[in-house]
Amino acid sequence: MTVGPAPLWKDDAMTTTQDLPATTTVCIAGCGPAGAVLGLLLARAGIDVVVLEKHADFLRDFRGDTVHASTMQVLAELDLLEGFEELPQQRTTSISLMTDDGFVTLGDFTRLPGRFQCLSMVPQYELLDFLTTEAARSSSFALHRQVEVVGLVEEDGAVTGVRYRRTAGGGSEGELRALLTVAADGRSSAVRRAAGMSPVEFGAPMDVLWYRLPKRAGDPGASFARLVPGRLLPMIDRGGYWQGAYTMPKGTVASLRAAGIEALRADLARAMPFLADRLDGALRSWDDTGFLEVRVNRLRRWYRPGLLCIGDAAHAMSPVAGVGINLAVQDAVAAANALVLPLRRGAVTPRDLRRVQRRRDLPTRVTQLVQRGVQRQMFGAAGDPVPPRGVPVPLRVMSRVPPLLRLFSRFMAIGIRNEHVDVTLLGPAGAPARALR
Ligand SMILES: Cc1cc2nc3c(=O)[nH]c(=O)nc-3n(C[C@H](O)[C@H](O)[C@H](O)COP(=O)(O)OP(=O)(O)OC[C@H]3O[C@@H](n4cnc5c(N)ncnc54)[C@H](O)[C@@H]3O)c2cc1C
Repeated sequence: MTVGPAPLWKDDAMTTTQDLPATTTVCIAGCGPAGAVLGLLLARAGIDVVVLEKHADFLRDFRGDTVHASTMQVLAELDLLEGFEELPQQRTTSISLMTDDGFVTLGDFTRLPGRFQCLSMVPQYELLDFLTTEAARSSSFALHRQVEVVGLVEEDGAVTGVRYRRTAGGGSEGELRALLTVAADGRSSAVRRAAGMSPVEFGAPMDVLWYRLPKRAGDPGASFARLVPGRLLPMIDRGGYWQGAYTMPKGTVASLRAAGIEALRADLARAMPFLADRLDGALRSWDDTGFLEVRVNRLRRWYRPGLLCIGDAAHAMSPVAGVGINLAVQDAVAAANALVLPLRRGAVTPRDLRRVQRRRDLPTRVTQLVQRGVQRQMFGAAGDPVPPRGVPVPLRVMSRVPPLLRLFSRFMAIGIRNEHVDVTLLGPAGAPARALR
């Protein structure tokens, strides 16, 4: 790719693969939004936490970058807003569908309650780098990159740590014991699998191909989604370039690829003629695209003794409304609020872990229900996908009835059962956590 950000790779003290301890209080597998925020919160509460991340850096091309009002609120509660605002980002106050008959507004954030009336597109690697840099200010926090969790350590039916393998430097293996292990390792969670937990799959009617194109003078001024018969084509304004999404009926990526990249270019040029001047240069092969197999699933039970799953490891979300990061962050906040005191006491019971799931289960269920409803309206039922033909009637009605539009905008930006950081648990006032010896 010739457009887009330069790789971000900071080789500082917190990124070493050396000096992995043998024990800690909390071991978090995976440093995505869920793992990074939970690590930060626990470290600020004085709990020893080790985060293991299998990749060498946070570069995630074509990942979720939507930071909604609920996440900005969490950052404000952590006194991190000033630093967050310095990250490269594009803010928007509305989301619209561009149809042949004009624009249809699907989200208007200008009348949201609370402090934030916008959403922000922030490259995920910038956000993760920022969060972990802040976490590393606390001596309780350690992030070890290029360390992949490959299994669990179990004793008497309880998880007591993880087995890991370094993905660099000879691939040595080891064990890390912890009072609590958290699976924050995403939608294909190895920890979840090792624990014998499998999510209920709800299916999805579509998959997504991501690509980037340079922006030029005269282009539309903000993000939008183009709807043409047969295709929904979201276009995210990333400042210097467009991040585009090409939705297709599930299971059709092979036939799309068989038709050749020229067919994709022609389809995009037909739908958005202003792009025609740059498609040949920027979309030269399928290597210039990224494929997302859309999945919607959820664990029935998010925990086992000694183990908690959060974020995508507990529930993979549909890309509808771009709320995956926000739900992951809300899970992390709920987990920290519920678990700091038990962790300080040195004993986390299944009941404590159940409190986290009870707090987050309903928001997850309702969000997935709404996402699946929108998916069905736009693309047909899972297993029986139909290409979108026009703006579904319920969305058209919603866009024209201000109270409904406000409700849907609030659902996207703030979600159901908004979590707030319990700041009384953070800071030097907290008693030091007891690390396992
Ligand atoms: C292509 C794509 C586009 C998306 N678009 C959006 C969007 O626009 N808006 C939005 O809000 N959401 C979007 N999402 C969803 C969003 O990215 C996720 O919901 C969110 O990142 C979940 O956070 P998480 O921390 O639970 O998991 P992840 O972000 O998946 O993080 C998991 C981390 O664990 C690491 N890991 C995995 N396995 C191991 C292991 N065995 N050992 C150690 N580390 C491991 C991974 O490297 C990763 O860093 C998108 C997702 C994808 C894949």
